[in-house]
Amino acid sequence: MKVRVAHLYPEYLNIYADRGNIAVLESRARWRGVELEVQAVSLGDELRPGAHDLLYIGGGQDREQALIAPDLAVRREAIGEAIAGGAAVLAVCGGYQLFGRFYRDRDGADLPGAGVFPLETVAGERRMIGDCLLECELVPGARTTLAGFENHAGVTRLDAGAEPLGRVVAGYGNDGASGFEGVRVGNAVGTYLHGPLLPRNPWLADWLLERALEHGNGGAAPELAALPDDLEREAHAVAAGRARSRGGRS
Ligand code: GLN
Repeated sequence: MKVRVAHLYPEYLNIYADRGNIAVLESRARWRGVELEVQAVSLGDELRPGAHDLLYIGGGQDREQALIAPDLAVRREAIGEAIAGGAAVLAVCGGYQLFGRFYRDRDGADLPGAGVFPLETVAGERRMIGDCLLECELVPGARTTLAGFENHAGVTRLDAGAEPLGRVVAGYGNDGASGFEGVRVGNAVGTYLHGPLLPRNPWLADWLLERALEHGNGGAAPELAALPDDLEREAHAVAAGRARSRGGRS
């Protein structure tokens, strides 16, 4: 079995070791006998709808976002078709912002987005920095937590009716006020959480792999064998503890 991954702009959007998320997906796939085939898709490269089971984009400073935004904005159709077709997506921080309609950066410049997420972001005066803990329910009835690190000036507003990724237990989240973080559109999730995110949240890595395998297997999702995630659970507990010690939303 194989999972075909498109890693968007790896050389531009990779702060907080966001590239580590690919390494986690690669290992957790390999431990189940699944090959992860990663294709870097950067400025001017082709991105064919249906050619990938999982799209990944990391975070970056305003400067890097400005360098890739025009190239990403013209991919609205291809990425929109991929999401509508059930491909899995993980978009982190700066990449998450640019999957929305636009990101207005700290200089007031509007960076065009791919417009595939129902949201827009405007950079505020304060930076929202620190450990963050969410409560999520991507699988109905299976409430779980997501722990990571956020660092953004961007204040993200979800459209009315849009589904957030999770409820903020500790930290800022999308805007430091609404109590919500991230967004979910089918098998696509966007989040401000870095770290990288997946080493301390193996359940999300597996959820993404299952959705990607489902996409590549004509809708049939093979059951992934459980892994001995003691270290990952410990890393999660440490990050969650740090976030909780920060207390409420600001
Ligand atoms: N530059 C964006 C902001 O400040 C995103 C930062 C990031 O990816 N960590 O909000």
